This record gives sequence, structure tokens and C-alpha cells, in this order.
Amino acid sequence: MRDLPEEWIEKGFHRFKKLPPHMVRLAGEMGMERELLDTGRISKGRKGSFMFVDGYGSCADGLSQEGVLNPGMERKRFISLLNIIGPVTNIEGTEGVEVRPEGWSMKRAAVESYSDGTIVIRGSSEDEIKNVRRKLESVIKRTEGCIGCGICVGRCSSDALHIDEDESGKVMISEEKCIHCGMCLGPCPAESFVRDPYTV
Ligand code: SF4
Ligand code: SF4
Repeated sequence: MRDLPEEWIEKGFHRFKKLPPHMVRLAGEMGMERELLDTGRISKGRKGSFMFVDGYGSCADGLSQEGVLNPGMERKRFISLLNIIGPVTNIEGTEGVEVRPEGWSMKRAAVESYSDGTIVIRGSSEDEIKNVRRKLESVIKRTEGCIGCGICVGRCSSDALHIDEDESGKVMISEEKCIHCGMCLGPCPAESFVRDPYTV
């Protein structure tokens, strides 16, 4: 009825309201991260529903790590805030966007994000991926948990941040003004209230 794969029943995922860690890991190994989010087995009643697959894959000129974001996340604001990491451009022929920080040397972008929630991080080393992921997690938490306090607005010398008083009451970036310096990252209430991602 819920369009879940056969394995969901075979492995007994339906038996749990909240999955124990070994079942979350099993779901990750079976490539069922999206089903976990869709059924609320890891995010019920909580904000911050995003997760990354543990470990790294190989790509043409480095390493990659995959994850999935809550497809219900406010995408327009998320894309706006991705500018903190680097210039954001559309991926031709898709509904995705990619981010290439200043001086990025790999063929593929540092971050690719698609409208179905799929997200890919790339780097030439594990440390580079961890660095990008740290910033990406800040962007995700601010997208989901911003309370519009304005602390970060004062950190931007380019006047690129503003609180969207008319609609969400949350922070937005004026993309034409942002120089992707990352100075607005730093203590932020949203980062305290939105929980860390699951890694499976
Ligand atoms: S510091 Fe955090 S909570 Fe405050 S406006 Fe900026 S992103 Fe929103
Ligand atoms: S401090 Fe301002 S210019 Fe720098 S990344 Fe943040 S919004 Fe962009």
C-alpha cells in the first residue's frame, strides 16, 4: 500500500516504530535511506531529517559521499544558503544545482543537490569531503531551524544576508551580493536546535 520495497517487510523494518541502530545501518547497506525518511522511522517528530551514507565512494578524480535530505525542506532557501559554500549553478538538463567553491580543482562539483533530496559531496581526500560536509550541515540546519535572530546578518560585510520578514521570517542570501566567504558561519541557534544527521 505504501509502495515500499519487498525487503522492507522481509527484513522486518515494519516491526519498529523507531529503528534501533543496527537496523538503520542495515537499511543504509540496502540502499533504503529514502524509505527511512519517507516512513518517518528516523525523523518522527523531529527536525533535521537528513542522513549520509557512511564511507566514501570513488569518482573520476577523487572521493564522494552520498546522502539524502528531507524532500520537504524549503528548497529555495536551501539553494540560497548554499552560496555560503560557493557559487551555485543549475545542472543542465536536471532539477539539480551544483556548488563549486573558489579554487575548486576537481572536474565534478563539491556539492550536487537534486530536488528529490539526493545529495552528493565530492573531494580529492577524506579531509576535503569532511570540510565541505561540515559547511553543508550548517547550511541544512540553518535552512530547517533558523529562528530569524539576525546574528549572522551582522557578520556579513557584503550586506548579502537579510531576514525574509514578508514570508518565512528566516534568513536568506542575496545571491548577487554574496562573495561566498563563509564569514556568516559561526554560532547560530539553529545549529543548536536541529539535530545532527544520521550516518548509515
Ligand atoms: S544566526 Fe542562525 S538562527 Fe540566527 S538568523 Fe542566522 S541562520 Fe537564522
Ligand atoms: S558572510 Fe555574506 S558574503 Fe560571506 S558567505 Fe555569508 S552571506 Fe555570503
